[in-house]
Amino acid sequence: MSGDILIRADGLSVGFQIGKGMFNKQILKAVDGVTVEIEKGSFFGLVGESGSGKTTLGRALLKAVPITGGHARYDDGEVQYDLAELGGTELKDYRKRAQLIFQDPYAALSPRMTVRDIIAEPLEVMGLTSSRAETDEKVREIAAKCRLNLEHLRRFPHAFSGGQRQRISIARALVSDPKFVVADESVAALDVSIQADVLNLLKELQRDLGLTFMFISHDLSVVAHTCDHVAVMYLGRLVETAPTRTLFNAPKHPYTKALFSAIPSLDPDDRGKTQKLEGEIPSPTNQPSGCKFHTRCPHAVDRCKVEEPSLQHAEAEGHEVACHRWQELFEPA
Ligand code: SF4
Repeated sequence: MSGDILIRADGLSVGFQIGKGMFNKQILKAVDGVTVEIEKGSFFGLVGESGSGKTTLGRALLKAVPITGGHARYDDGEVQYDLAELGGTELKDYRKRAQLIFQDPYAALSPRMTVRDIIAEPLEVMGLTSSRAETDEKVREIAAKCRLNLEHLRRFPHAFSGGQRQRISIARALVSDPKFVVADESVAALDVSIQADVLNLLKELQRDLGLTFMFISHDLSVVAHTCDHVAVMYLGRLVETAPTRTLFNAPKHPYTKALFSAIPSLDPDDRGKTQKLEGEIPSPTNQPSGCKFHTRCPHAVDRCKVEEPSLQHAEAEGHEVACHRWQELFEPA
């Protein structure tokens, strides 16, 4: 990537202690040494199966879970923060600069609050406005940008459809004027017909407000239509990262290839050629040695069981892959 970098993570890790007692303690490594850069104004996609660590990585970059190893630097041109060390008034300031759009538009909104109060709450909690009139003005402004009918601000969430509720969630996340937004499976709970509408709105808001998005999804086809750059995660590690077009035209990692096989092809000639993803992702408390994907990889050799591959430059600019065999497996003949 070549532009200004908003977030730069270097060896970032998040571990949780689980189990009780002297002999039963275990560390669950949800994110394990992730190095990544997110360009200002980009739509950065993070994909992987459930249990890959993508939600935890998003939360760590929002400083919503403790960073237990490595570093993450945030630099929006006004302030620079070391996220691993952030606390006190700097953390309060970061809360308004970095926001989350939740996955489930039904669970995320309090049924007892009006839409106006739901959107206004972050402004009031963070003390970002000095009068009710100022709060109302900001609420109306962001509601209009999120294509909400201003008449609806007095109503309660149950009166709205899933797509409308997600637009309320988006307005609430953006009302504090953040620079960085993590959208965690933000269209997964919506009907396919509504997904495109919400994705278009997110892209429009990104452009108009100069936002930087981290878009977390298990669905590569959604990421393809939305993101500029994609990182693929497996068991807490990044296994491949590339500009979206490069990744979709020439994936190099067997796991990425297998994720593509989950997307139904419209071309009858392609059917049956794809590599299916077999088995379940292993437990993060009991991770395989060497390459973490070796227990499911059809191309695994002895080396894969003992030596963990690191991300290395592939052919195209910005393309990196962590696989010992990518050159022999997926190079054009
Ligand atoms: Fe498969 Fe080995 Fe590559 Fe891992 S390093 S993805 S096991 S070929």
